Amino acid sequence: KTEAYDLVIVGSGGAGLSAAVTATEKGGRHVIVIEKMPVIGGNTLRCASAFNAADPERQARLPMTDTLKDAVVKAINEKPANPEHAKLQADVKAKYEAYLKSGSKSLFDCPEWHALQTYNGGDKVGKIPLIRTYATNVKGTLDWLQSLGAPVLDRVSQGAGALWQRTHQFDAPAGNALIEPLLKAANKQGVKIVTGMRAQSLIVKNGKVVGVRATDTLGDKYVFNSRHGVILATGGYSQNKQMRQKSAPNLTPDMVSTNQPGATGDGIIMATKIGAGTTGMNYVQVYPLATPGSGTLQGRARKMSGLDDVIDVNKNGERFVKEDARRDEFVAAIKKQPGAMCYDINDSQIVQKRNSFNEDVDTLVSLGRIYKADTLADLAKQIGVPPKNLEATVAEYNKQVEAKNDPKFGRKLFDKKIEKGPFYATPRAPSIHHTMGGLTINSRAQVLDTKGRVIPGLYAAGEVTGGIHGSNRLGGNATADVTTFGRIAAKTALGLK
Ligand code: ADP
Repeated sequence: KTEAYDLVIVGSGGAGLSAAVTATEKGGRHVIVIEKMPVIGGNTLRCASAFNAADPERQARLPMTDTLKDAVVKAINEKPANPEHAKLQADVKAKYEAYLKSGSKSLFDCPEWHALQTYNGGDKVGKIPLIRTYATNVKGTLDWLQSLGAPVLDRVSQGAGALWQRTHQFDAPAGNALIEPLLKAANKQGVKIVTGMRAQSLIVKNGKVVGVRATDTLGDKYVFNSRHGVILATGGYSQNKQMRQKSAPNLTPDMVSTNQPGATGDGIIMATKIGAGTTGMNYVQVYPLATPGSGTLQGRARKMSGLDDVIDVNKNGERFVKEDARRDEFVAAIKKQPGAMCYDINDSQIVQKRNSFNEDVDTLVSLGRIYKADTLADLAKQIGVPPKNLEATVAEYNKQVEAKNDPKFGRKLFDKKIEKGPFYATPRAPSIHHTMGGLTINSRAQVLDTKGRVIPGLYAAGEVTGGIHGSNRLGGNATADVTTFGRIAAKTALGLK
């Protein structure tokens, strides 16, 4: 069967739906999203919906400390890796000097600083033009999502591996917070969405991508022709063991993943078959704080994904890492602990009836997934940790919160003390989470071939692309990237402003 559309989008996660909604905003466009799984939403539906964006208004309540100032100064003055890096440093410096002049006591932030941290946090292998495009547009994306009904909370925190307090969250079960408003808008605007339809290959005519061949769950074949090319929004390859092992042989094949089973790198396979280039395919991110055994993100006590009020201890009840570390550093530190796992420890101040995945926390406690006790000593007994050690660790941490200084591990993130029972312990272990590498794109989301030339009619957005997150993606930069570049891809494909 053959069908014709103005625009064909492959994949219904955050990137695909953002592209579809953007493409149909002004009406008059015939757009289809094809999704191979029976469920709409991809990994975006499973994620914690942490969303990074510099947002001075919502960040106003957050204080700027000396250690945070040091971090900015260090990044500005470091020897630049290349002229683009030097320019980015100079731009941050100008904004920082203006900030100092203003006399503000609130946390310093701006798109340039977000961009520099993204670049540095990815070991300076990301592409600065892409990173700048991302950081410059991301607050606009957040406002846009809010205008579609995403319930953006006023509280900004620091997600795991986010490196700065610019992580937004939503007053809705994680994942749904983004997918639901996007889906509502897509339906309202007449986007066609079909599930159980797997794109198999791209159709190229006279050097231009003009459609996709697809197969449904019964094995029937379809052709979707597209007047304005194809947007690949097929996500990453955390669940494609062959691709994952080939790219990152340091990962063992038996490792669990936070990802949905459809994250198998199909877009990368289809596009490279017609000559697309790839970037950073060897960079695969492991998330430090997932559920041991299953590898899911769920099952935790706290409402927010931020680690502002959480410490992590090993089976001896001792801290072993700064909890605001990069994810790869955190994972490396956990792997050295007994049983290669740790416990999130927090008090009742950040626990609400339901956690950020809409799970009832007391049910998780009664099922033995989370431990809860009125005293730290009882909590320690429940998890088999020496009570004296856990008490001493928390007492020491509380002093550090007062002093805003952690001489042992260098934590910079301090908010509340851990002091109000009941106390909670959640077992956590690493799990494969995000593939930083993918198709090479330019800042307009056009896919480039192996020689860096634009492939006419082919666009890509989201986790299927490479080059933004370098070797290590900052926590909270994924939903923000996929939605931002989903919008850009649609605008480029249709020539919209
Ligand atoms: P992103 O965050 O980049 O939007 P997601 O993982 O949220 O990525 O979404 C990607 C979606 O693309 C998933 O729902 C996945 O099942 C879908 N997908 C992957 N490969 C194909 C394919 N070959 N055909 C159709 N859909 C696909």
